[in-house]
Amino acid sequence: MGEKTIQCGNLIGGKWEQRGANGITRLNPANIRDVVATAPDSSAEDARRAIEAAAEAFQRWRRTIPPERGKIVLRAAQLLESRLEEVAQLLTREEGKIVSESRGEVKRAIDIMEYAAGMGRRLGGQTLPTEVPNVFCFTTRQPIGPVAAISPWNFPVAIPCWKIAPALVCGNTVVCKPSPLTPATATRVVEIFEEAGLPPGVLNLVHGGAQVGGELVNHPLIRGISFTGSTKVGMAIHMAAARRLAKVQLEMGGKNPQIILRDADLDSAVKSLLTAAFGATGQRCSATSRAIVERKVAAQVAERLVAGTKAIRVGPGDRPEITMGPLVDELRLREVKGFVDRARAQGATVVIGGCEPEGLRDGHYYAPTVVDVRPEHEIAREEVFGPVLSFIEVDDIEEALTVANAVDYGLCASIFTRDIGRAFTFIDKIDAGMIHVNRPGLGGFSHMPFGGFKYSSYGAREVGDDTINFYTDIKSVHIQEA
Ligand code: NAD
Repeated sequence: MGEKTIQCGNLIGGKWEQRGANGITRLNPANIRDVVATAPDSSAEDARRAIEAAAEAFQRWRRTIPPERGKIVLRAAQLLESRLEEVAQLLTREEGKIVSESRGEVKRAIDIMEYAAGMGRRLGGQTLPTEVPNVFCFTTRQPIGPVAAISPWNFPVAIPCWKIAPALVCGNTVVCKPSPLTPATATRVVEIFEEAGLPPGVLNLVHGGAQVGGELVNHPLIRGISFTGSTKVGMAIHMAAARRLAKVQLEMGGKNPQIILRDADLDSAVKSLLTAAFGATGQRCSATSRAIVERKVAAQVAERLVAGTKAIRVGPGDRPEITMGPLVDELRLREVKGFVDRARAQGATVVIGGCEPEGLRDGHYYAPTVVDVRPEHEIAREEVFGPVLSFIEVDDIEEALTVANAVDYGLCASIFTRDIGRAFTFIDKIDAGMIHVNRPGLGGFSHMPFGGFKYSSYGAREVGDDTINFYTDIKSVHIQEA
């Protein structure tokens, strides 16, 4: 490939450190001969120094007026926009998604940063009535302190940005710990925020794994932990943080259904399934992983779904003709294969896919896969995190809702129907935080709250205004006339 290896360092107290350290080596998932980046596999001591830098910077940053904090975030959004193409290409090289999806992710990060920047002029409280004469009552918000932003590899631009931007505008300082699978994109993001004019120590970056994450979670100076990742790690973080009553905001796994009723526009329903199940190679917390279809139209949906799946072109994400990229690494590829192999052994039928595509030996590729399952099969209940869609037939909307809700997760859900009454029954009864009617059941718009129910999320929602409830504390003020 001939592209340069990017040497990533830590940013601690305004100084870049350990560029050239190679405890972490990241290979291009589409071509494992291409070494994309090296980064330090940092120690708990590195994390501690970053936390102390964030704590020191907090004292001044919290006094910077909110519109000024917002302006710096807006400048970062503008810088990211001016480098959209470069960052998108890097994202594809490091994470694997196709370039059009990478551009979409960067655009989403920019939109969210612009929205968060405006919070600098909206960080208000409430004026409330008094209970006794001559008392004036209001609420006001203040930042919670240094916070940790722990992020996964699958949206390595958008997710750090949607944590960093509101955290900073609300007056907190931040220590970021990105996934060791995406050090280069995370470094670009932090460089852009730094270039936008943040004072030293306000935003810090420490590369590494669970050792760095553990230090952030347990250190008494970190007052809030915003985590996105697996449910297993999220739960462990919640338990550790509870011991010292640190705030947590957890965004975790999903097992998202798309229900298709007999009166649906089937072409549009299948188009949506293909986008939501196989887009980003199925490596989205919000990916649709269950098609729950009324029996009367199941054969028609299956036929169109197979035709659409056959048309997907798998390969390196930087080629224009490719419509689905590789999985992020060998471990995740093995996990996906394991799910499909066990499904076969449990009696499920692989309708299409279920194998590695021919002739793609350089990366971690898996064919887009549809499996005809029963709701009790493991593959229909657990998060697979790859391009695998479970197909389930049901008799009617009641059974569809029972099946849809019978899993541990509740992140996104969608329904295709022309019947407004059924659509509202779905909105009322589905256990999910992000709901779509006649649209792909992915996340939402850049100003809508992002998060879900059950094992998918915990704490204040991210992205919309609700995130202010995580990044600030409220003071209730009562002033009596002297
Ligand atoms: P992961 O849980 O393995 O890792 C997430 C982050 O936590 C990484 O930075 C990792 O290094 C860190 N970490 C690991 N162990 C830790 C520990 N003990 N203490 C502190 N930090 C620790 O998840 P992943 O494989 O990077 O990402 C995939 C998962 O993320 C999927 O389950 C997906 O559904 C979920 N996800 C959820 C959302 C959402 O908004 N709900 C969005 C994207 C991804």
